[in-house]
Amino acid sequence: MSVPAQLFGPSSGSACLNRRILMSDRYKCVLLFGAPGTGKGTQGKLLGEKDGYIHLATGDIFRSLDKETELGKKFLHYSSRGELVPDDLTIELWRDHVGSLISAGKYDPARDLLLLDGMPRSVPQAERLSDLIEPLAIVHLVVPDINDMVKRMKLRAEKEGRHDDADENVIRNRFDVYTNETAPVLGCYGKELVIDIDAIGTIDEVFDRCQSKVTPIHEKSFG
Ligand code: AMP
Repeated sequence: MSVPAQLFGPSSGSACLNRRILMSDRYKCVLLFGAPGTGKGTQGKLLGEKDGYIHLATGDIFRSLDKETELGKKFLHYSSRGELVPDDLTIELWRDHVGSLISAGKYDPARDLLLLDGMPRSVPQAERLSDLIEPLAIVHLVVPDINDMVKRMKLRAEKEGRHDDADENVIRNRFDVYTNETAPVLGCYGKELVIDIDAIGTIDEVFDRCQSKVTPIHEKSFG
């Protein structure tokens, strides 16, 4: 797959920069990025416990759907194969969810930093969200050995009863989908936004590494 044109960043061209100025009211966010099993959800939940941070995991939004609804059935159809839900459905659900959080007073874009977990997960999603979100950084959790991630995912499947992570073939497909559809998202943003974090270690150790990068971003943007 060819590397997409950058959506943001110094080398993204004046048209994008002008757009950025015009779109200063986009939701400020940090993207939690990484292959399945690198711990985005765990770290996102911990970071999201602090005042002024909202952890938003697209997988959790999907899992909270009523399985009997059309959308709930579609989610099961795709997730049980380790595939992504089509972009249109995903973006619509995500926008509605964020809108409902704002209406309910649970998310205030003027004071809360969104920690986006599992969004955007494809280049078309990144493009579709470009006038809605302003990524301030991409926290990229890195685990070099795929077998470590497979082990983590199997443990999680047992602990959390997650059907999509119980079958090794499905797990392997999730990695293929990550490589082919999600990893190219990194190329949509300027390299200077990407922060690689070693995701090997205890939950606390990795949390300290993430927190030390994310806290200054929050302070700079929200004071
Ligand atoms: P996760 O909990 O992030 O591993 O997501 C579980 C499943 O939800 C994925 O395997 C996909 O089927 C679906 N999903 C989560 N986020 C997205 C997304 N941004 N786009 C499409 N499908 C998604």
